[in-house]
Amino acid sequence: MRVKSKGTVYLVGAGPGDARLLTVRGADLLRRADVVICDVLVNPDLLRLAPAAAEVIARGNHKRDGGLSQEQLTELMLARARAGKTVVRLKGGDPFVFGRGGEEAEALVAEKIAFEVVPGVSSVVAAANYAGIPLTHRDHCSSFTVFTGHGDAHDAPTALRYEQIARIPGTKVVLMGMDNLAAWTQSLITHGMNPQTPVAVVHRGTTGRQKSVAGTLATIAQLAEKAKISPPAIIIAGEVVKLREKLNWFENLPLFGQRIVVTRRTEQAGSFAARLAELGADVLEVPTIKITEPQEKMAIVDALLEINAYDWLIFTSANGVTAFFDLFFKRFQDLRDLGGARIAAVGPKTAAKLRELHLQVDLQPEEYTGKKIVGAFRKFQDIENVKMGLFRAEVANPDLPQALMEAGAIVDDIAVYRTIADTKDRTGAGARLRAEGADWVTFTSGSTVEHFHAQFDLPKLMKQFPQLKLASIGPETSQVIDALGFKPTVEAKEHTTEGLIAALLKIAGM
Ligand code: SAH
Repeated sequence: MRVKSKGTVYLVGAGPGDARLLTVRGADLLRRADVVICDVLVNPDLLRLAPAAAEVIARGNHKRDGGLSQEQLTELMLARARAGKTVVRLKGGDPFVFGRGGEEAEALVAEKIAFEVVPGVSSVVAAANYAGIPLTHRDHCSSFTVFTGHGDAHDAPTALRYEQIARIPGTKVVLMGMDNLAAWTQSLITHGMNPQTPVAVVHRGTTGRQKSVAGTLATIAQLAEKAKISPPAIIIAGEVVKLREKLNWFENLPLFGQRIVVTRRTEQAGSFAARLAELGADVLEVPTIKITEPQEKMAIVDALLEINAYDWLIFTSANGVTAFFDLFFKRFQDLRDLGGARIAAVGPKTAAKLRELHLQVDLQPEEYTGKKIVGAFRKFQDIENVKMGLFRAEVANPDLPQALMEAGAIVDDIAVYRTIADTKDRTGAGARLRAEGADWVTFTSGSTVEHFHAQFDLPKLMKQFPQLKLASIGPETSQVIDALGFKPTVEAKEHTTEGLIAALLKIAGM
């Protein structure tokens, strides 16, 4: 019998917090991981890249909520590799910068397990960048020194020698320095550093929760305490800190400081969430729905048999287009079997999806209400006795077919997909929302409202977090919000995610 060969462990730098700063190599490896093991500081959004079937082991905070210890995690990593798995060990920042990555690599060598180290963007540089502080600058310094504020005991060979550190010119960057901030800043002053040296503290750098405070070596401990800055944070000391006033690009982004919940399903959330993050928001992706086949399939089976009989095929969402053609190609090999019907698409995203399939859209009503859509048809032709197939979600607003029928059309309202609840909180974003609240919840359809409410109890959440506001993509979605007894603070003028973003920017004063 062949002994199963051991797996490989990839020690992957997950970057400093902003999920977009993962390396391409890291993303590749995550996509084919059997097992992903995460540290506390790793952004859980990265787990979305892993296959749905991958085992995820998260460290949790050992001290605070009894998560796994570093030793237990290393044991698990070795065990999975011995079992032949491809293990991605995600470490915050860079694996070999204060992350005990070196020790883990040694354990792998001792077990003769193949490993690779993938560098990551370290918080040392990234938190400084995102706080507008260049670590070197020709006018100010020509070196930077990195050390930990959690130094070993005085007599240990690895102990920090503040009398020496105080004499090194250039910028100083301190990791894990919050607990002893007052002590080590004082120690540097005692050993001769100028108490007026500019110092900044950057908490959760590169994330939507970044917070930075600046002062001097003499004042920073007090200022940080007053601002309630907790770990993780880096502390930067040196003349370059002054540049922050000019260069603080990230904290000046228009949606910086706003925690915004995205409720649409994972496959669709991508570009919307990415755009919000680009504008500086702290995005919580809490997908509440997913899409599956309709329960009632007879209608679509019948419709496909006589698809040639329709004068119009009408689509109201990109989802509807995708679902329709999935079903269509299960039955037909050839797009020409679609026949010669005209095609209508409500909204630009729906039209774009059809164009991807090289189908021309004959009519594209921009407004979603039944009345407006009928108006658009009427401009095109008299719809008396015109036969229309309306391909959309299983439970959808009856206004549209009704309005079309009132105008004389013969309408088949056919379910091509069904939205169901997505309750798997893979990244823990749902738990974070429950614990910490948010500034905005964005709704991009009536069904996101319903499913969000079913999962989070909207009235309860609004009561618990009074700053929470609701943003709606358009009147149909707002109606569902109204039905729960709330009014959206903003409703998009153009009923697209771009329109929704425009509305959020407007209220942010941009
Ligand atoms: N390997 C990591 C460092 C791990 S040690 C890296 O390369 O970044 C943990 C310390 O890193 C924290 O106590 C804090 O000082 C710093 N740190 C990590 N992520 C941070 C972030 N997003 N913002 C500020 N400091 C961070």
